[in-house]
Amino acid sequence: MASIFTKIIQGEIPCEKIIETDAEIAFLDIMPSASGHTLVIPKLEVMRLEDLPETQAISLMRTLQQVAKAVSTAFDGIDYNLILNNGANAGQEVEHIHFHVLPRAEGSPGPFRKHIQYAEGEMQEVGARIRNCLWWLQFLKIFTRTDADELCRHWNWQ
Ligand code: AMP
Repeated sequence: MASIFTKIIQGEIPCEKIIETDAEIAFLDIMPSASGHTLVIPKLEVMRLEDLPETQAISLMRTLQQVAKAVSTAFDGIDYNLILNNGANAGQEVEHIHFHVLPRAEGSPGPFRKHIQYAEGEMQEVGARIRNCLWWLQFLKIFTRTDADELCRHWNWQ
């Protein structure tokens, strides 16, 4: 079902984008409960988790894990909630499946209890910080996965 998120995916509505893959997009929530509050969505237009084909659910989870780690790293290893409001009675307002990555500082109120407003330019700054962390995390992941011998061969080291 088309929703406001379809327009974001199609680039018709601007967003503070964190990452876009073939199958997912993550961006900052426009009415955040905390600084860095991020949404991770599949590009496929489905409302509920169980509507998502299994391979896409796995892909979404992979991206969610990376984005959540980047959000946490950007805020000095802050804790966070991962929230999926699945259906109207569960609080889902936008009818396109989305995970909230919600940073939780010590003593912060429960999810969605309050909203904050970014100062001018702050949302872009926060987005850049998270993107930067994500870049480094992805770089380290590729680097540490690569076999040391393979690297030596690649760079012609003995
Ligand atoms: P839910 O209640 O789980 O459906 O949450 C929907 C979320 O989407 C809310 O936290 C909204 O603030 C967020 N949201 C709605 N429109 C936009 C938008 N244009 N850009 C970013 N976030 C949005």
